[in-house]
Amino acid sequence: MHQRVIICVDMDAYFASVEQKSNPKLRGKPVAVIGSGKRTVITTRSYEARKYGVKTGMTIYEAMRLCPDIIFVVGNNEKYTYTCSVLENVYKKYSPDVEIYSIDEAFIDITKTYHLFGTPLDVGRLIKNDVKKLFGINCTIGIAPNTLIAKLISDLSKPDGLREIKTEDIPNLLKDIPVSELWGIGN
Ligand SMILES: [Mg+2]
Repeated sequence: MHQRVIICVDMDAYFASVEQKSNPKLRGKPVAVIGSGKRTVITTRSYEARKYGVKTGMTIYEAMRLCPDIIFVVGNNEKYTYTCSVLENVYKKYSPDVEIYSIDEAFIDITKTYHLFGTPLDVGRLIKNDVKKLFGINCTIGIAPNTLIAKLISDLSKPDGLREIKTEDIPNLLKDIPVSELWGIGN
């Protein structure tokens, strides 16, 4: 029997990347996406902002204390939802079996289709190229025999990563990872 081959694709700093793409003045700068309400918190921050320790869930005051030059952008959900629907069509080029897990993450079962494109890593490379070409943003891709490990390896490979884990590598991968790091388990 074929071993399953699952791709987890996760956009890097999704909302912030989309904003940086659509406004050149934001590129290369510390950017935080916030809500429109008065007591809003940061929903996503660019990798430039992460260097200052700015985290998701911080208030704008906390972020400004860490990074006085940070630029705040009110998030535009329609833009992100639109991008997400285009991404779904990209994934469907490679397999009909696509699960949109969240606005910026999806699982694609390429068990029966990857051979049409080469190896699983080739499919990963093609998807990364498509995303970059269409939206100018980076994503990270983890490939594994199941969704749990695909998600884990994608989290470990961020940003702009691409990594495949085969069944025989799983024990080695897991031996140094605390259980709390595992997706769906937590502390
Ligand atoms: Mg993401």
